[in-house]
Amino acid sequence: ITFADFGLDPKIQKAVAEQGYSIPTPIQAQSIPHVLAGSDLMGAAQTGTGKTAAFVLPIIQQILRHASNSASPARHPIRALVLTPTRELAVQVAENAASYSKHTDLRAAVVYGGVDMKEQVAILRNGVEILIATPGRLLDHIGSKVANLSQVEILVLDEADRMLDMGFLPDLQRIIDLIPAQRQTLLFSATFSPEIKKLAQSYLRTPVTVEV
Ligand code: AMP
Repeated sequence: ITFADFGLDPKIQKAVAEQGYSIPTPIQAQSIPHVLAGSDLMGAAQTGTGKTAAFVLPIIQQILRHASNSASPARHPIRALVLTPTRELAVQVAENAASYSKHTDLRAAVVYGGVDMKEQVAILRNGVEILIATPGRLLDHIGSKVANLSQVEILVLDEADRMLDMGFLPDLQRIIDLIPAQRQTLLFSATFSPEIKKLAQSYLRTPVTVEV
């Protein structure tokens, strides 16, 4: 299997080739077709397995494929939201999203706590289709009406086990309640503990399970 087999937009394939990737990793080979088909997905994968591209590449494809809701008042509404436990992971995912989308006109941005809000507010007001965020700071931006999740089509919970360990469950619940039920949800976790399975049961619809 090669990246060409996924039928990704040439703009995405070009970016992948520029990264120097030739063969999809196991998590990519097993996840990308399901995400492209619109399924919810639970992936058991550690960092280092290529899990970021496993969700970012098909997300870009899905956003390019679905025309944006023209009734939306925002010119660049948030259409994909990736939640991560830490600033470091958020930045890494955002760097990946920027690389893989660089030949498209989609915008990706990252927001996390511990830094001034101003620069993030300016970026969010400008509009981004793909937002990577840590939960607490995202809620701050939602509270101040700078971030609106009403147009989100794809939600990713990355390193969901660590988010639960860090006590983010109430924040996750508040955030997910603001996202349309008609969405695609992807959950990645190092392990499928009972807590993770419960989270998945609450927020995923008949997910495909992938373990590498
Ligand atoms: P991740 O698990 O998403 O943090 O990715 C781990 C590392 O693998 C990153 O440096 C990626 O750039 C790289 N990577 C992801 N997919 C591939 C691939 N298909 N071929 C080679 N390297 C990859």
